[in-house]
Amino acid sequence: MLKLQNISKQFDDKLVLDNINLEIEPGEIVSLLGPSGSGKTTLLHIILGLTTMDRGKILFNGKDLSNVPMKDRGFNIVFQDYALFPHLNAYDNIVYGLRNNKSLVTEAELQEYIDFLELTPHLTKKVGELSGGQKQRVSIARTLVMKPKILLLDEPLSALDGVIKESIKQRIQSIAKQFKLTTIIVTHDPEEALTLSDKILIINQGHISQFGTPQQIINQPSNDFVEKFILKQLHIKRQNIYQLFGEQYA
Ligand code: ADP
Ligand code: MG
Repeated sequence: MLKLQNISKQFDDKLVLDNINLEIEPGEIVSLLGPSGSGKTTLLHIILGLTTMDRGKILFNGKDLSNVPMKDRGFNIVFQDYALFPHLNAYDNIVYGLRNNKSLVTEAELQEYIDFLELTPHLTKKVGELSGGQKQRVSIARTLVMKPKILLLDEPLSALDGVIKESIKQRIQSIAKQFKLTTIIVTHDPEEALTLSDKILIINQGHISQFGTPQQIINQPSNDFVEKFILKQLHIKRQNIYQLFGEQYA
């Protein structure tokens, strides 16, 4: 289990995260949802170990990781802009992280990730020759081969549209299930968060606004911000939520 306790972070004079507490069960998908600038990426980078926190603790399976460097935490991230190496082909991008640790995955496991993400026909393509959805799949494969204990994704769907978005969304859900991988996803899109995750942490200007299942958030928004942010952005009225998300939200 991942536990975040009382995490705070200030940049210059600005309090960007204020006393964040969160518990995530193994294999759960949790979205960090909030408007632009609310502190989501900062929180993701703090969990990863890329950004230091001013106060607070990160515990994973009972072990205090607060002062453990990024490379020793065993978490991994899919960055918002993919951050692929443009001079390498898809395959070399996927295995790049394994260059100093070839024994981390077997050849068969590597093939399984590549098959799972349907990347076999694209392996020899340069990054510039890949579509947005293919780049995202390479980026996810590259992260999975490192066998992360927690998978972090920063706005994985925001650059994609329509059918491609839906297919990447389903893949993220099957990865979490199939590999029993705890997954934390940053998004500013309430519909994405509501349809993708087991639980959602809604952040407003660095504060937790609400934490709960999609059902709880829709049926019992705990304040005005949640109500307005969710409903306004979805452009739907409460009664239509049933049609969008099914019977459990009635
Ligand atoms: P989000 O991902 O929710 O859009 P961020 O976590 O990226 O928000 O940013 C939260 C706030 O922190 C913003 O006001 C942003 O300008 C500020 N911020 C983020 N990173 C830095 C940094 N390295 N230095 C100074 N300010 C930063
Ligand atoms: Mg962000």
